[in-house]
Amino acid sequence: MADTATEEFWRTVEPIENNFKPDALPTLFLKDPAAWDERYAFPISETVLAIPLWISLDRNMWANILVAKTPGLINRHYHPHPVFAYTLSGKWGYLEHDWTAEKGDFVYEPPGSSHTLVSHDCGEPMRTLFILTGPLIWLDEDGATVGHYDVHDFVREARAHYDKNGVGADHVETLFR
Ligand code: FE
Repeated sequence: MADTATEEFWRTVEPIENNFKPDALPTLFLKDPAAWDERYAFPISETVLAIPLWISLDRNMWANILVAKTPGLINRHYHPHPVFAYTLSGKWGYLEHDWTAEKGDFVYEPPGSSHTLVSHDCGEPMRTLFILTGPLIWLDEDGATVGHYDVHDFVREARAHYDKNGVGADHVETLFR
């Protein structure tokens, strides 16, 4: 339950009864996942980690916080679907664009864009919320497709990591909606 009102003007407003449709999935609430211990972050590339927040197998979507403690790189890839990002700390950008995202900055990458993600050495870790629809299509130097990465890869790698480090593979399923 939300904290009880004290003097707030809405203290007499009643909550909605039966607020979920019978087949609706439960709300997912995660307390400050960016501060979770390091075991919850698994490698997406050699230099970038992901903390999964929400996973939708049906939609091939996921939300995660990407973390890079050192300068980070996610190799060039193409997105057939949109990408939303909100920066929590550090500095990052795409080699293909002229902006650098810092704390508080929002990014929308439209479907049909390719990019190379980099994070900077700026004295604090890069932490950014990304909401993605798969797949990412990995590209070589000539722009040719060399592989792909979608929600199923994300789930498999998260499970394997949590299975090894004691978090437990089951944690991944708690994020399914
Ligand atoms: Fe991307």
